[in-house]
Amino acid sequence: MIAVSACLIGDSVRYDGSHKLNDELRQLVQEDKAIALCPEVLGGLSAPRPPAEIVGGDGFDVWEGHAKVIATTGEDVTEAFKQGALETLALLEVHQCTAVILKSKSPSCGTFEIYDGTFSGELKSGMGVCAALLMRHGIVIVNELNWKEKLDLSLI
Ligand code: SF4
Repeated sequence: MIAVSACLIGDSVRYDGSHKLNDELRQLVQEDKAIALCPEVLGGLSAPRPPAEIVGGDGFDVWEGHAKVIATTGEDVTEAFKQGALETLALLEVHQCTAVILKSKSPSCGTFEIYDGTFSGELKSGMGVCAALLMRHGIVIVNELNWKEKLDLSLI
């Protein structure tokens, strides 16, 4: 079993209330080959919600206390992001998922680049808060762009 970011299967859970439907990934869930989850919603945040970015580092830095997740409103949403990541990890363990297909560039799900914390649209290298936690726990991390190339499809 694997898991997929919920916005990729058409759930309207993105910050602006939209989704990023990928038909192939939705089919995996429909065929019970994957579960879908949204770390930010699991952390108690609503959809829609103010956009947020990691300031001062990436997801690993958030877990080490060196960076924060800040919304455009100025609200510090770090704890909600961390809680959502922990809930995601718990769900993956319950469902015995060893790999996840995450939405690229997100402050939670971003796999190798994220927005740089200035809300200017610029990217920086690094992982999102949830992706970093999952990687630390040995989960295989891929995204919606590279999963066919990078993922051992026998895991599905
Ligand atoms: Fe939720 Fe991750 Fe999609 Fe953001 S990228 S809406 S946190 S599933």
